Amino acid sequence: DVRHGPILYMEDVTVSFDGFRAIDNLNLTIDDGELRCIIGPNGAGKTTMMDIITGKTRPDTGDVWFGSRHDLLTMNEPEIASLGIGRKFQKPTVFEALTVFENLELAMTADKRVIPTLTARLTGDVRDRIEEVLTMIQLADQQAQPAGILSHGQKQWLEIGMLLMQRPRLLLVDEPVAGMTEQEMERTAELLTSLAGKQSVVVVEHDMGFVRSIARTVTVLHQGSVLAEGSMDQVQSDPRVIEVYLGE
Ligand code: ADP
Repeated sequence: DVRHGPILYMEDVTVSFDGFRAIDNLNLTIDDGELRCIIGPNGAGKTTMMDIITGKTRPDTGDVWFGSRHDLLTMNEPEIASLGIGRKFQKPTVFEALTVFENLELAMTADKRVIPTLTARLTGDVRDRIEEVLTMIQLADQQAQPAGILSHGQKQWLEIGMLLMQRPRLLLVDEPVAGMTEQEMERTAELLTSLAGKQSVVVVEHDMGFVRSIARTVTVLHQGSVLAEGSMDQVQSDPRVIEVYLGE
């Protein structure tokens, strides 16, 4: 388990929408190579937290650093993305008419509105990375098939694969197993745990069984700040956490 200090650092971050504090003095540190799960009831601020990291929402106060050198509050969304911060939203958005392989190829081009000259002009490096990612997401056998015929779970993996093409340093993943079968959930757990160490992964998830299967450290958000942090056993036996979840 190789760790090299924090990759993401949020200190005393506050965001208000019309006077309502969606994020209220949030302090969060994600270590390089770690796989962290964020849980919390609806409205706890999980989405807003991700929006702050990616630059979609600007905090009113606080600090957000990527590594020790990049002050994310001075950067816009494309600049933050180019540091190697990738975000996977809950619903899969793959290009259904293109093959699995072409979807991964497309993920290498910066401008998503332009379909690249597919396959013919691929450099060896890109081809190698596609093969590598196909193996990671367990879709090598489906690479020539249109993405539209994949199962829901396979589409989710393909989209994670598209993010992996750029070799992100931090991957933010929103509810990856919603709507998945048990078997797809197991494969997703394998995929996400296999990424940890190579990149940092932050997963927002409601399925506690899934969280338990992947996370070493779980952060519980409540009313815009950290209510508890620790192993799944630690946070699940924390009276404050029990109260918040029973009250939902
Ligand atoms: P979660 O993802 O944990 O369910 P959110 O980050 O979506 O929580 O929301 C936190 C709180 O902030 C909620 O009460 C929500 O209604 C509010 N909120 C989020 N975005 C906005 C917005 N753009 N305008 C007003 N209120 C918002």
